[in-house]
Amino acid sequence: MTTPFLETPIEYLKGVGPPRADLLRKELNIHTIGDLLTCFPFRYLDRSKFYQIADIKDDLSYIQLRAKIVHIQTIGTPHHQRLVATVRDSSGEIDLVWFQGIKWVLDMLTPQQEYVIFGKPGIFNGRWNIPHPELEIPSLQPLPLSEIIRPIYNSTEKLKSKGLDFKGIGKLVKSVLLNEKFVMPESLPPDIIQRLRLIGRQQAFINIHYPQSPELLAKSQTRLKFEELFYIQLRLAKQRYGRLQKHEGHKFLKIGDFVNQFYHHHLTFELTNAQKRVIREIRADLRSGNQMNRLLQGDVGSGKTLVALMTMLIALDNHFQGCMMAPTEILARQHFNTITGMLTGLNVVVKILTGSTRSAERRQIQDGLQDGTVHLLIGTHALIEENVKFKQLGLVVIDEQHRFGVAQRAKLWEKNVVTPHILVMTATPIPRTLAMTLYGDLDTSVIDEMPPGRKSIVTRHVYEPEQGKVFNFIRDKVLEGRQVYIVFPLIQESETLDLKNLEDGYQTIIREFPPPQYAVSMVHGKMKQKEKDGEMKRFVDNKTQIMVATTVIEVGVDVPNASVMVIENAERFGLSQLHQLRGRVGRGSDQSYCILMSSYELSSDARKRISTMVRTNDGFEIAETDLQLRGPGDLQGTQQSGIMDLRIADIVKDEKILKYARSVAGEIIANDPSLAKENNDILAQHLLNMDKKQQNWGLIS
Ligand code: ADP
Ligand code: MG
Repeated sequence: MTTPFLETPIEYLKGVGPPRADLLRKELNIHTIGDLLTCFPFRYLDRSKFYQIADIKDDLSYIQLRAKIVHIQTIGTPHHQRLVATVRDSSGEIDLVWFQGIKWVLDMLTPQQEYVIFGKPGIFNGRWNIPHPELEIPSLQPLPLSEIIRPIYNSTEKLKSKGLDFKGIGKLVKSVLLNEKFVMPESLPPDIIQRLRLIGRQQAFINIHYPQSPELLAKSQTRLKFEELFYIQLRLAKQRYGRLQKHEGHKFLKIGDFVNQFYHHHLTFELTNAQKRVIREIRADLRSGNQMNRLLQGDVGSGKTLVALMTMLIALDNHFQGCMMAPTEILARQHFNTITGMLTGLNVVVKILTGSTRSAERRQIQDGLQDGTVHLLIGTHALIEENVKFKQLGLVVIDEQHRFGVAQRAKLWEKNVVTPHILVMTATPIPRTLAMTLYGDLDTSVIDEMPPGRKSIVTRHVYEPEQGKVFNFIRDKVLEGRQVYIVFPLIQESETLDLKNLEDGYQTIIREFPPPQYAVSMVHGKMKQKEKDGEMKRFVDNKTQIMVATTVIEVGVDVPNASVMVIENAERFGLSQLHQLRGRVGRGSDQSYCILMSSYELSSDARKRISTMVRTNDGFEIAETDLQLRGPGDLQGTQQSGIMDLRIADIVKDEKILKYARSVAGEIIANDPSLAKENNDILAQHLLNMDKKQQNWGLIS
């Protein structure tokens, strides 16, 4: 929804011109006058409130003082001059400093005059001061209401050097709002606006920039946040509906011998209630006649693989084949071993296909898939990248979906006339708000319960000088017959340095745990796949007791006898990574331990990450903390989701609005899936406009 005026290139706005327009484009992605208006203030200053000089202790924000000039001097050589004006209020003194325009400022300043001073404090030569503040003589009349709340905009050094600091940007915005051509068309239908008592779009845009009152500001924020989240949800709801319409699904109506035999004669334990619930949810999808597209979330060890296996057996009972993709060869092999193990005695033919499958074998597997004698195929993405054809592929299970690109997934469904059902498994818990935005068009199931008898992992934070104690602990555990992981960080930008770090660590470990009494494995990303697999296998077979590794072991590896996870430089890992790593232990019946090593010097975020790990084992709680600490931008998977582009809503803070937006959007699509009703015309138009802006919505499907 826009107008020719709002679509005018920014350089034609009075006061901009080509050079500044260039900078606005490059620095703030502002191309049109309309874009300028969607750069909302990031905070507001209440001009009726004054700061006490004595209270200045951080350099983070703009403040306003009311103080008298007590001293003025210029300092430095003619080429490097600065003007310093000392001001005083009842609490103390501070310097105002100018490096430019000194002559002009000097003329303007009146000694002993009281000013309203506005600026951002900083430290210079060990003292607090305010560089290039804005001064005004206090007005005798109270400020008009409309000028009390002052918007502060993001700017950059380059923009500032061209006069576009937050004030400069504010002036441009104001000139647009005051322009007679300025009209902001409505983007929501009247019934929604009335029902939710939202303020109109034009009102909201005026008040978000120049609030007439705190109440109007709050209403504008709600309105614009709602609008932003609503359109994301509307699009997701529409996509989901479209997918259900377009993709007819295979109907799996039968539960037959495979499932029954497995369930009654092979399963040695009772399913958890969560597993039962999730299987019911999956079964409902499989019977519906629509294609299933379901995300299965569950903490490490919650029993997702088992759910996947049972789903594959349902496919087999309905005379379809299934396949399962894992992100790495090690994991594919592990799934293969687990699954063939669990299916022993059942007449199921399972094969594994990876990049290293030899061509004779490969040909055989392909033949088997085409004539239907191979029932289940497990592998890496070699599955989709190569010329693999199934007779009747009915189900695809994707493990750890973050590592699979959407494009890769799309290839899967291109292969078949009727799209196979898709079950995506992830052990990376996603906070609810984020899941709603990221996977709004996917149905989600959550296994929120661990199999019984699992001992929760004991986690400790240990400082590096106490490394000796940790070695003793490892020795004890190895003596008891347990195995141990020791993980070193790997940062992509400096792989060589990290490798050295790892190798030094390895040498230390070898010294502490020398052969022949001990055997130590090492695995890292620079090794050849074959070597890696070999080392991994030695550890899995309990031929080595200690595994020194980088995060390559992060995902999925299952060695139940390993009960100690030591993480070196724990401060260098993200929370979800720490949680994934910890999930490598605690898979057997023994009490397991996670030891987080760090130096004494920790940033407050690192401290928070480590203390969260020590406090809880709950993956969802950890994910929430992670989201709060980092914001959504850094979380895996969010880059492609479009939530990076949120201009005003905050996925963490605006959960309530998000839920509301989601339910309203769902309702609308349920009643008018293609937005064809006249009332919804405005919604269809707006979605179309968003498409034109080529935002990457809906990449996740
Ligand atoms: P995930 O894939 O979620 O990490 P897995 O499916 O690998 O978890 O299960 C972890 C371990 O727990 C496996 O050894 C599995 O056999 C076992 N397990 C799964 N479900 C149950 C259950 N209901 N009761 C007991 N053990 C279970
Ligand atoms: Mg697993």
